[in-house]
Amino acid sequence: MKTKDLKFNSKLVHSGHFKDKFNSVSVPIYQTSTFAFENADHGAACFAGECKDYIYTRLGNPTINALENCIAELENGFGGIATASGMGAVTTVYMAILEQGAHIICSDAVYGPSRTVLETLFAKFGVEVSIVDSTNIENIKAAIRSNTKMIFVETPANPTIKLTDLKACSELAKKHNIILTVDNTFSSPYLQKPLDLGADIVVHSLTKFLNGHADIVGGIIVTATEELFKKIKPVMTNMGPNIDPHQAYMVYRGIKTLAVRMEKAQSNAMKIAEFLEAHPKIEWILYPGLKSHPQHELAKKQMSGFGSMMSFGVKGGYEAGKKMINNVQLATLAVSLGGVETLIQHPASMTHSKVSAEGKISAGITDDLVRFSVGIEDVDDLIADLKQALAKV
Ligand SMILES: *Cc1c(COP(=O)(O)O)cnc(C)c1O
Repeated sequence: MKTKDLKFNSKLVHSGHFKDKFNSVSVPIYQTSTFAFENADHGAACFAGECKDYIYTRLGNPTINALENCIAELENGFGGIATASGMGAVTTVYMAILEQGAHIICSDAVYGPSRTVLETLFAKFGVEVSIVDSTNIENIKAAIRSNTKMIFVETPANPTIKLTDLKACSELAKKHNIILTVDNTFSSPYLQKPLDLGADIVVHSLTKFLNGHADIVGGIIVTATEELFKKIKPVMTNMGPNIDPHQAYMVYRGIKTLAVRMEKAQSNAMKIAEFLEAHPKIEWILYPGLKSHPQHELAKKQMSGFGSMMSFGVKGGYEAGKKMINNVQLATLAVSLGGVETLIQHPASMTHSKVSAEGKISAGITDDLVRFSVGIEDVDDLIADLKQALAKV
């Protein structure tokens, strides 16, 4: 059966699976660095690209391929390139598409290091960077130069929960022959498919929703076309940020329950967002599912659900927020997100502490911003926990 023709939830369970010698129901972990050749001619043929057999795990591995094929199908892309981390995926795309003298437009609301690496490392190699507020497409349009090679956005963005209109953005990019890369980590393909909306490349931190169990770090790149795949794949295999077969197995296993995890987490998130919005000690809250979110309509248009990520500010600013964070008991104080357990953190002093002060202000990462990743616990327990923590503020 062709898994490509299945509906999404069936793809989650079956995509990427292949029949092996033992008819394994679960794709095994091929924990091997290298693969033997039948003879010298076979080895030469493998290297010449005349046969599809495996050579060496940095170049390809059956467990890793299962994961790559699975996510490529989930995103409706041509192919997947798995990496050791989400940042491995982001920087591999930057390396493959950018060159000395090239210009990139990056949304101001992205994962901290995705921006920092452009402003420091890539700037060192002569890449020009414009950081813009991508919630307004006009800002992207105004930043386009003759040497613009890529637009990089993340939606919803970490940690400001700002959205970028992917359809408008991809139309603009196509008109100017610019590659549009979207970090789809916060939505996962369950809620949003950027390639269907016209993007060229999708990246994920597999560490988050796709794996979903806070037990590995990983990343992936999915390209819309074969041409882009062929451009990026050798950059990954030559630079070497490949995923490990065991890591790949863990993510592949996690993906099978993505739909049920997402449904539970976002239903919890909606109830928690409503609870927080009505709470007298909450100054503000941003959750795409709330009517008060300035881009609620866009979220309804380009996402099939609102996810489980939210940000809020406690009345009394950072000190009050800190008190709350220190008093939650069920939610864990930790960075990362998208797992079965609920996590809470303070971006200004943690994940985004390396973004400059002006950068944080312009991106909307205020000192009072608390980021909340809702898990799949019983929502009554989560609300009771927030209630008691807020009572201590
Ligand atoms: C975590 C994260 C990354 C980086 O992923 P790692 O797996 O930690 O390298 C990139 N983008 C977003 C949106 C993230 O949340």
